[in-house]
Amino acid sequence: LEAKEEFSHKTLAMDVMRPRRSDPALTVLTQDSMMVEDVEAIVNETTYSGYPVVVSRESQRLVGFVLRRDLIISIENARKKQDGIVSSSVIYFTDHSPPLPPSSPSMLKLRSILDLSPFTVTDQTPMEIVVDIFRKLGLRQCLVTHNGKLLGIITKKDVLKHIAQMANQDPDSILFN
Ligand code: ADP
Repeated sequence: LEAKEEFSHKTLAMDVMRPRRSDPALTVLTQDSMMVEDVEAIVNETTYSGYPVVVSRESQRLVGFVLRRDLIISIENARKKQDGIVSSSVIYFTDHSPPLPPSSPSMLKLRSILDLSPFTVTDQTPMEIVVDIFRKLGLRQCLVTHNGKLLGIITKKDVLKHIAQMANQDPDSILFN
């Protein structure tokens, strides 16, 4: 990563984060309303290293971040070893299980694999600062919020690509990628 002076123009976190304006929404999990089969489908249909967990899709309030590999291992283990865990079991990342009818299948608590304080920046944070944070804290990814709502994600690779573009291109054109 390069010296500060090279990032003096104003690219913001929102210009580098995914998803881009035209892309499908961020792939998130909800804290206590998805079933084992829903989460398995997401893990099978996407290759992301991790997924933000939100209170609900409507609120987009960030609860934490869960790594793909931890999700896969925990669900596999639970299906093998934990009594009553089936495709329609509800997964919860909260402290207490959500209220469900007595006839519902056993629920699967995954709070232990949730990172409850993932690093976040606001969408207006200059990339110069984001690059600095990645470098100094050794981050793998950082979440982007606006007014407390989750908007996007920036991975280490996104930051490295951004730096490569800055080195190769007219800075003005980067804003319009
Ligand atoms: P890497 O950037 O190292 O390839 P990922 O595979 O996790 O890491 O991410 C690939 C791309 O998808 C990156 O540009 C990243 O910003 C984006 N991304 C990562 N996680 C998610 C997610 N949960 N939903 C949508 N996009 C994501």
